[in-house]
Amino acid sequence: MDSPESLILSAIDNNRERLIKFAQNVYASGEPGFREFSTAKKVTNFLETLGLMPQTGLAITGVKAGLGLPGLNIAAVAELDGIACPAHPFANPANGVSHSCGHNAQITAMLGAAIALSQPEIKALLGGNVTFFAVPSEEYTDIEYKTRLIEDGKIRYGGGKAELISLGAFDDVNLCVTHHLHMVKTGRDLLLGLNTTNGFVVKQIEILGKASHAAIAPHRGINALNAASLGLSALAYQRETFRDTDFVRVHAIMTDGGSTVNVVPSKVTLEAQVRAKTVGAMQDAAQKTDRAFQAGAHALGARAVIKDLPGYLPVLEYPVPKAMEMAGSLLAKAYSVGKVDPEIHNCASTDVGDLSHLMPTLGFTTGGFIGDLHSAGFTVTDVDKAYVLPAKVMAMTIFNLLQDKAREAHGLLERFSPPLTKTEYLAYLGS
Ligand SMILES: [Zn+2]
Ligand SMILES: [Zn+2]
Repeated sequence: MDSPESLILSAIDNNRERLIKFAQNVYASGEPGFREFSTAKKVTNFLETLGLMPQTGLAITGVKAGLGLPGLNIAAVAELDGIACPAHPFANPANGVSHSCGHNAQITAMLGAAIALSQPEIKALLGGNVTFFAVPSEEYTDIEYKTRLIEDGKIRYGGGKAELISLGAFDDVNLCVTHHLHMVKTGRDLLLGLNTTNGFVVKQIEILGKASHAAIAPHRGINALNAASLGLSALAYQRETFRDTDFVRVHAIMTDGGSTVNVVPSKVTLEAQVRAKTVGAMQDAAQKTDRAFQAGAHALGARAVIKDLPGYLPVLEYPVPKAMEMAGSLLAKAYSVGKVDPEIHNCASTDVGDLSHLMPTLGFTTGGFIGDLHSAGFTVTDVDKAYVLPAKVMAMTIFNLLQDKAREAHGLLERFSPPLTKTEYLAYLGS
């Protein structure tokens, strides 16, 4: 009789063409966050062909299907959304959204794992449940659109995972396994573990002045553009106070700089993201950002109205568990396998960080592409490494975690003390 490992790997190999075709189809039809309707439908249909019964429409587009087994529950988490990058050769012509962040590879990995783990012979060997969870809106873009959804009461938060957590959709999940294409440069095909990342908050800043004729009566106006410019300068003067070890990144854009050149600008709007490695450093940099724009406004007699939106929490360091190491060793004959260097910190952000504050959150990254994520040059060059390998790692890691009555998974849960309870997390979002 075949070993469970060979049954898992051969199930994925036997479905190789199907998985690659699925990945390529999604690659060319990216959709923005909370609007991944057709991608969600494709995921739902795929899971149904495996005899699973997905719940749909979670946080608008999320799809979730479990194997229905008793015991603790491990979620294979994949993100549905693409990123606006109209210059990408495979951007969806309907909306300019591409999969240049490779979330199509994550979805494919999750579905490949679903194929492998839903086989009756394998299911019978699992000491706990597995949930396949396609989640909306990881990219924190389209803030105006998301703000409208929030105002219309359709969502409460800009990130898909925060929204799902608040809805209780993660309440029955004890542990998550995630995949992403490599986010830091490496020569390896597979890197086990996740690098820490920055968390961030979003600031929507309105500087309110007073309109007046720019040539006849500038003395009767209050120039909001000048106040905003002073605010940006004040922010720049804060930079020497940011510690290198906190990896602070504060970046702002002006979304409206005035309406007509011969009128003193009465309203200027900016959007900023304040990122750092720890929540404390995020809060410190966020206060300095507020003070900078308030000072600029004060100097000119304008008013700064600053609205905060919760972004994402930092991804916390989490050791690579044995189950994932074993999956890596099994695949090391065919692929070059390494482990993340804990010294390397990723200054970008992901809402996987939110999950990492609530439950053990495992992750791995794979290659098979060239070019930078989110760029027009991002190209999948090796469909095996980008789409098939991650399915095998995902399936084998979860399978290993659930052996011997889920011994290792139980051990990980016992040793994990969550930095935040769900209540504290929701309070943080609300603050
Ligand atoms: Zn991305
Ligand atoms: Zn991504």
